[in-house]
Amino acid sequence: MQALCAPTENSADVKCPICSKGFRLFWERTSKPDQLAALPEILKHLRAHHDEGTEHPETAFNVPSWSGNPEFSGAALLGGAY
Ligand SMILES: [Zn+2]
Repeated sequence: MQALCAPTENSADVKCPICSKGFRLFWERTSKPDQLAALPEILKHLRAHHDEGTEHPETAFNVPSWSGNPEFSGAALLGGAY
């Protein structure tokens, strides 16, 4: 399922396993088991930023990647990110 990751200085839901930058997570679905099941995918995505030699985006981004504006993704709208 889709999640929106928003960089945050405090109250992080998840931290990058490599640089420990914190992110808040907004979920498309509220089911905890679904969210837990999706966490490995999010950590993989955060690691991939480093594998690609790029920085984490300064702005919110979706996992899995979403071609549209992150503000209009299901995770952003249903998760109440904006
Ligand atoms: Zn990182």
